[in-house]
Amino acid sequence: MRIANYDGRATLVTGEPGAEQGVDIATATDGRFRPEPTDTYQNWTEIVSWAASFDVSAATTFAIDRSKLGAPSPAPRQVFAIGLNYDEHAAESGFDSPENLPPVFTKYVSSFSGPDTTVVIPDGGAVDWEVELVAVIGREATDVSEDQAWDHVAGLTVGQDISERITQTRGPAPQFGLGKSFPGFSPQGPWLVTTDEVADRDDLELGCSIDGEEMQKGRTRDLIFPIAALVAELSRNVTLYPGDVIFTGTPAGIGAGREPKRFLQAGEHLDSWITGIGELHQTFVAATK
Ligand code: ZN
Repeated sequence: MRIANYDGRATLVTGEPGAEQGVDIATATDGRFRPEPTDTYQNWTEIVSWAASFDVSAATTFAIDRSKLGAPSPAPRQVFAIGLNYDEHAAESGFDSPENLPPVFTKYVSSFSGPDTTVVIPDGGAVDWEVELVAVIGREATDVSEDQAWDHVAGLTVGQDISERITQTRGPAPQFGLGKSFPGFSPQGPWLVTTDEVADRDDLELGCSIDGEEMQKGRTRDLIFPIAALVAELSRNVTLYPGDVIFTGTPAGIGAGREPKRFLQAGEHLDSWITGIGELHQTFVAATK
């Protein structure tokens, strides 16, 4: 099952890549489910069973206009982002790989957007890219085991943890939350994909390019803490709620890890992808003073 946030309404996605069609869930269920995507995650078990028996061939569908897609979970109660979760990325960042839970920080919800956007480079900013697999919680989780963890995940989507490195690393202690939460710095989408739709939920290829030049390419089998371990570890500390979003960390190839360092410039296009899920497209522009 693929579920999109289409113009603010929960939408079932059908059809082949490049020719996706949408079914408005509230309309198709005569109002049994509310249109807000937040409601979808609150009623995740019911949505899954409804979708399993829903006859798409008889449904009213419409062509998906990507410009109307928003983040699949646009108003989570909590957002978690994980640092240093791939060995090669930890090394390029100048850190040893974490043996215990990696650094956990947040990206504020005001930075969320859909998959295809224009992003303003903050004045003087050093804006970097981090393609990431994003997991959305579908069932509340408190102190769950790794074996149980996937049962609490609604599905997966593509995320970019766009990061302004000057703000992020400004002393006396790092400001990860602020440096990674300028407007539009958390594009996600194009939709949520349930794990039965992907070949291997623990081994997906992900990458990104700038103007067609490959910057990152990795596989989620190389996550030091895979999704089940992250959900279990986080749930030991906090309660995870339906709709909560977890950015799982980025593979090697960020701009700050290069010699010389490279950051996004006005006019550049950043394309990000995860095989079996979809793509994000960002265009960067200068701040107007
Ligand atoms: Zn990140």
